[in-house]
Amino acid sequence: MKITQLLFPTLREEPSDAEVISHKLLMRAGMIRRTAGGIYTYLPLGLRVLKKISQIVREEMDRAGGQEVGLPTVQPRELWDMSGRWQLYGDEMFRLKDRHQRDFCLGPTHEEVITTLIDGDVHSYRDLPLLIYQIKDKFRDEIRPRYGLLRGREFIMKDLYSFDVDSDGLEISYRKMYEAYSKIFERMGLTFRVVEADTGAIGGNESHEFMVLAGSGESKIVFCDTCHYSANVEKAESLPQEKPSVLDFPSIEMISTPDVRTVEDVVKSLGVSPSQVIKTLIYVTDDQGYAVLIRGDRELNELKLSNYLQGAELALAPENVVKELVGASIGSVGPVGLNLKILADFEIQNMTEAVCGANQESQHLIHVLPGRDFVPHAYIDLRNVQGGDPCPHCKGLLNEIRGIEVGHIFKLGTKYSQAMDAWFLDEKGNKSHFVMGCYGIGVSRIMAAAIEQKHDQNGIVWPMAIAPFQVLIVPVNIKDEEQARHAFAIYESLIQNGVEVLLDDREERAGVKFKDADLIGIPLRLTIGSRALKEGKVELKKRWEAESELVSLEEIAGQISSLISQYN
Ligand code: ATP
Ligand code: MG
Repeated sequence: MKITQLLFPTLREEPSDAEVISHKLLMRAGMIRRTAGGIYTYLPLGLRVLKKISQIVREEMDRAGGQEVGLPTVQPRELWDMSGRWQLYGDEMFRLKDRHQRDFCLGPTHEEVITTLIDGDVHSYRDLPLLIYQIKDKFRDEIRPRYGLLRGREFIMKDLYSFDVDSDGLEISYRKMYEAYSKIFERMGLTFRVVEADTGAIGGNESHEFMVLAGSGESKIVFCDTCHYSANVEKAESLPQEKPSVLDFPSIEMISTPDVRTVEDVVKSLGVSPSQVIKTLIYVTDDQGYAVLIRGDRELNELKLSNYLQGAELALAPENVVKELVGASIGSVGPVGLNLKILADFEIQNMTEAVCGANQESQHLIHVLPGRDFVPHAYIDLRNVQGGDPCPHCKGLLNEIRGIEVGHIFKLGTKYSQAMDAWFLDEKGNKSHFVMGCYGIGVSRIMAAAIEQKHDQNGIVWPMAIAPFQVLIVPVNIKDEEQARHAFAIYESLIQNGVEVLLDDREERAGVKFKDADLIGIPLRLTIGSRALKEGKVELKKRWEAESELVSLEEIAGQISSLISQYN
């Protein structure tokens, strides 16, 4: 492709609404344009990247035994009523009506459609297992569509669904997908980790997320160097520790603390460390209030709290509700003498000399000893694990990193097949519900995640396997006849060899062309300039290296093809 024929509108300025580097670079490099919040148009260069990503995903799904289908975007309400999700899905679902006022949605996911399809056409255990997938637009009216392609409202996903006769079969399908996903991200040249993920609301029994590592990632991950345990912090467990054995502690004392509201205020005004403070959070469910205790230097994990309460809908109580339940404002709440069900994180029972609110306006308690001064209903795991904590498996040290979730695999079991009564006849002729799994990859999210991981101050550094083109040819001055002649000759010969080549044939200054070359991130750049040509050479530069090298005209084709296979 010649750049003069390409729709390739680069931007000098950073778009003002872009917060993350991938969004900025995709816009500046003329790969995407915003059509509405969370809804993007892919320009030719961007679409090439998407197609490369999709193709790698497709090849690995096919290799694992997957069969590609095309499920509809517009889905009737009846299917979602069968699974109970028409109500449950809430505002994230785009809903519409047809001319007869019948309800439809734009598919946010396809469990309902696929389960109905398989139920209709597969009747015997002999036809199982089945791995059915598609690569398609998904629609989710996200609360906060942001970060460009990382969280869109219309985005591209590969979703595969497995159907097995029993849980042993599911185990095999799940392992196949686990391996195929690992292969996919390896082939794309991305650094990633697989982590144990929470199965909370969906309720399956095993789930893994595939995370592309990037400092800007929304997900926090912990991993152990010793035993290879890794988990999303949402899921990572913390362990109870040994209780201290000292017995002789001073008695509790109340002190006046005007203007003290936050943990920070307590630390400043009382000269204690945050780890000595008991943070008391009041949560309410439909029918009950809870006091949730966590150390002042820790983060509460709401998912763990909700899982403990069997998935109850929880909300942090607002000031007026706290006053009503406790009789003091949020900053002065504490567990001593409190008439609410108290749930305390494991670490609370190891605290001595603790500080907490006194349930009286502008008063705090010091020398608090959990177990003596108050007794929680339960000590449980309630906090987010963080770097430096012991590994829950081997007690090694956990490290903390950030990542972007690009894939998610999930054992569903019979959740949907039971709800929708989808069954087959087993070996004995008995009716049996399909045992299912679902496996998603964020195809468009990968495009952004790859940039979050691979860029420098000048632009994108695409891995070879997903780059829009493999080679960019830049004649320093296209009006120089000799340069132009060589540039076109190399262009033609590389195309003959099956190389994906872009030729910058614009009558632009060399500086402009080099800037754009760095911005769009094509892995290999060939610069054709008069001085090197005199010696029968051109300059070859890898986008990820600072230095370039001179290559003779005869060797270009060989060099390029060996670099492509080396880095592909
Ligand atoms: P998240 O927690 O990021 O909202 P999810 O749990 O809702 O993700 P799944 O329903 O498991 O995601 O979807 C499978 C994959 O689709 C995710 O791993 C992610 O890569 C991608 N994905 C999900 N939501 C979006 C979105 N709004 N924009 C782009 N990709 C998305
Ligand atoms: Mg989501």
